[in-house]
Amino acid sequence: MTWWQTDETHAPELTSWVESANGHSDFPIQNLPFGLFSPAGQAARVGVAIGDMILDLEGCHAANLLESVSLPPFHGDGVNALLAMPQDAKRALRRRLSRLLADEAQRDAVSPHLHAAADCTLHVPARIGDYTDFYVGIHHANNVGRQFRPDNPLLPNYKYVPIGYHGRASSIRASHVPVRRPVGQRKPPEADSPIVGPTTRLDYELELGVWIGAGNELGTSVPIADAAQHVAGFCLLNDWSARDFQAWEYQPLGPFLAKNFQSTISPWVVTCEAMAPFRLAQPARPEGDPAPLPYLLDEADEQHGALALTLEVFLLTARMRDAGEAPAQLSRGPATSMYWTVNQIVAHHASNGCNLNPGDLLGTGTISAPTRDGFGSMMELTIGGKEPITLPNGETRAFLEDGDEVILRAAASAPGAVSIGLGECRARILPAT
Ligand code: CA
Repeated sequence: MTWWQTDETHAPELTSWVESANGHSDFPIQNLPFGLFSPAGQAARVGVAIGDMILDLEGCHAANLLESVSLPPFHGDGVNALLAMPQDAKRALRRRLSRLLADEAQRDAVSPHLHAAADCTLHVPARIGDYTDFYVGIHHANNVGRQFRPDNPLLPNYKYVPIGYHGRASSIRASHVPVRRPVGQRKPPEADSPIVGPTTRLDYELELGVWIGAGNELGTSVPIADAAQHVAGFCLLNDWSARDFQAWEYQPLGPFLAKNFQSTISPWVVTCEAMAPFRLAQPARPEGDPAPLPYLLDEADEQHGALALTLEVFLLTARMRDAGEAPAQLSRGPATSMYWTVNQIVAHHASNGCNLNPGDLLGTGTISAPTRDGFGSMMELTIGGKEPITLPNGETRAFLEDGDEVILRAAASAPGAVSIGLGECRARILPAT
């Protein structure tokens, strides 16, 4: 089986005896994402989201419910070993979990291993060795490039090289962990010299996170045709950004303190296997654009490398929260605005012999639609703060304020398939200290 083919675990008629899973927008039985969770007062362990519940995978394993599926030892420190399993073993585990949760006869044996998700804490699911952020959202690259370099928005390398930089793994946090407004150095346009203080241009970035499964040895590359074998799954990623720090510091070496104070991810690894029904052909490049160089070009990747995901951003201000109002939608757009596929960024990353490891995280870069209703950052929505947006309750925003909560969501859908979601990526801004 290949990475875009489906099996009985994707069947649209499949339902679970866990009632909340049936019709669940994120976690029906067709999803089965992995995560690291703690039931109240208990140690962290590996689990699987099913509806509003979490199945304790380690508990099921200890109770011999996983039968012949061979699992790596768990150490309570994340899903790295699961991500690294060979694809055949991952499929076998997925089939077994699907049967356990579909078959009414398994209810009595499996039920003791279910926990209400609302009573659990979700953690960053893996030990992230390295984090790399790319820049594949071409409309974002154009929009931001125009603000930083009006005459020269898209640099000439963009259509040849999947642009990326090495980010910071230590400050990645799971959804719901608040983010502190960072203090840093910036130079106001009218000032002669820089000042130090809390950022006044705090922003979010809507990105997909890509979890690396099997790694590659230092000195070896990952051929584009094999790249999907190294991708374990997906999440949402909010690459919080301090635009004033960024503008002052980013040349000549790129993003640094403007980006590394915190990044927030959705806590579930939605597996490559779960995403099989939601594969699309990579949109054709515009007339006149160069073809990808041979090491980045693969027929199967061209046919199946894009993702049928709809991405959304919501904002909940402190005033809205106090008034009991629903979050306001800031944008909505497709993930097909990626100029490079996930397989291309993986192949490119390893093309010089750089070794990727299980549990590494790649960010795609901000994914913006071509039109304003799908822009993936505040900087784009407000044209660098010049045109503040007005929220349904009359509040305005040029950039994010203390107490604001940014919520990212993503839904995968395709004809004949049950839709799945990536789960929420949500965090609130605390004032600077
Ligand atoms: Ca970014």
